[in-house]
Amino acid sequence: MVEMCCPASLKHLHMPTLRLLLGDQLNSRHSWYQTPAAEDDALYVLMEMRSETDYVRHHIQKVVGFFLAMRHFADQLRAQGRRLRYLTLDDPCNTHTLAGNLHRLIAEYKADRFEYQLPDEYRLDQALRDFCATLPIPSQAFDTEHFLSSREDVAELFRGKKTYLMETFYRAMRKRYQLLMEPDGQTPLTGRWNYDEENRQSLPNGVAIPPVPGFTRDVSELVEMLQQGGVATLGRLNPAHFNWPTSREESLVILDHFIHHRLYAFGAYQDAMTIGHTLLFHSRLSFSLNVKLLHPLEVVEACIDYWKSHPGEVGFAQIEGFIRQIVGWREYMRGVYWARMPAYAGLNFFGHEAPLPNFYWTGNTRMRCLAHAIGQSLDHAYAHHIQRLMVTGNFALLLGVHPDEVDAWYLGIYMDAIEWVEITNTRGMSQFADGGLLATKPYVASANYMAKMGDYCRNCYYDPKAKTGPRACPFNSLYWDFMERHRAVLSRNPRIGMIYKNWDRQPSEQRAATLERAAWIKEHIDEL
Ligand code: FAD
Ligand code: SF4
Repeated sequence: MVEMCCPASLKHLHMPTLRLLLGDQLNSRHSWYQTPAAEDDALYVLMEMRSETDYVRHHIQKVVGFFLAMRHFADQLRAQGRRLRYLTLDDPCNTHTLAGNLHRLIAEYKADRFEYQLPDEYRLDQALRDFCATLPIPSQAFDTEHFLSSREDVAELFRGKKTYLMETFYRAMRKRYQLLMEPDGQTPLTGRWNYDEENRQSLPNGVAIPPVPGFTRDVSELVEMLQQGGVATLGRLNPAHFNWPTSREESLVILDHFIHHRLYAFGAYQDAMTIGHTLLFHSRLSFSLNVKLLHPLEVVEACIDYWKSHPGEVGFAQIEGFIRQIVGWREYMRGVYWARMPAYAGLNFFGHEAPLPNFYWTGNTRMRCLAHAIGQSLDHAYAHHIQRLMVTGNFALLLGVHPDEVDAWYLGIYMDAIEWVEITNTRGMSQFADGGLLATKPYVASANYMAKMGDYCRNCYYDPKAKTGPRACPFNSLYWDFMERHRAVLSRNPRIGMIYKNWDRQPSEQRAATLERAAWIKEHIDEL
């Protein structure tokens, strides 16, 4: 016997179709909503569940952001006159599991049909398939109508290939959507596909960076609910100043801000880093995109429209650099995910085993680059791409941290972290755990790179030029230790061979001292 939990307003209604919405399926322009509310006989269901808050330890801002966005979306559907059941975390009817809640609601509302949108995560995809297999009523999965490519496109494009080159996929997407193309439909505007070379500049002195766009709202009640429920989170949040966009309207404001104030310098400084700013010229759109408040094509088209209508304001390298992130990298990562899951989640090409240093959870280290990138991640649930790849990711790879630990950290700490885009970036691009399926070589670098691309090294306790000695930058010796440990596989890589020649030319005592320093660092990692 199922205990009745439906609210009075929905009691005794027969809801022919129960439609599930996951927390990252907030696409208000989905064809489900094209049916006028008066004719829509579905009951929409959104649920805040412990199974979602607890599968990894999330940043507090991420949990709050998801729940707020879901609540806004629910309000919007209700305002349209659609019927909706929203289970809050503290709702006594909440069983906190997907299947538990759905079975209960289907029984209560006597639904004779179950529908859902295809999840982006493998674990939820499996869970829903399993759930539907046990249902005595018909069920149907719908596309989310969000992505620009199908789950299978990448697998099909690279069928039989050992490596999946993003550039090949990106060019195919530019042609498919006719983005920045000549009228012949085959040639890229300007004749060049890629402006990566121009887009690797460090910040010039005195460049004015616009303030981070955001909103100020009080989320104390939500935070209290999480605390009372005993949800374990990480990171920091001032409950009176939650500033992420959590509705479509707010997301459009952030997009507009990006187009008017940051796009003009996006490409040029996308790899730059500075202690003085968290966002630089990045867009801060990943959360809105990943929960589907914004559609990737509308983002891309809005940027291209602005570029076209403001000649001379936004250079071609800037607009191309941004379009590549959205129609290239983002879609490509999703395709890799569906091509290679579930095996991808177990890959560990280098056989790395080390634990993640404790300072990843606190930011307490004298290494200025790591202290800043981690500190800002704990404060804001955000770090830009190069901080993730070349600071925290680079250090974890040099140190030989187990990819499971690296994944859990990235999946928890970032506002935009959902497995399909987190694991491909972390395990694949950053940790090379797939052995080079998507990166042609490991993204590792010594302090040289850091000193070239930003100002972290300027007042650091460590010396970016030194490899040995108590003040030598840990990145330097760890870099050579990594290269030496993996010599057998890496020296065969044509993009790396030269590096070994340089190393081998150094006097043997110097090489030994560098490796000794690396060994000391690994043994005393939490003293750095
Ligand atoms: P911008 O720099 O302004 O870029 C614009 C948009 O392009 C982003 O919003 C994003 O949607 C897309 N984009 C850019 N690069 C990538 C990429 N490599 N893969 C997919 N989309 C991209 N991105 C996530 O959305 N979720 C993650 O969990 C995530 N984890 C990452 C982990 C690591 C180790 C690395 C190296 C990168 C990760 N990224 C992830 C990609 C990228 O760092 C973020 O998308 C970006 O920093 C988000 O900030 P932004 O919106 O200001 O991006
Ligand atoms: Fe980071 Fe080394 Fe530079 Fe310090 S010197 S900021 S530890 S790269």
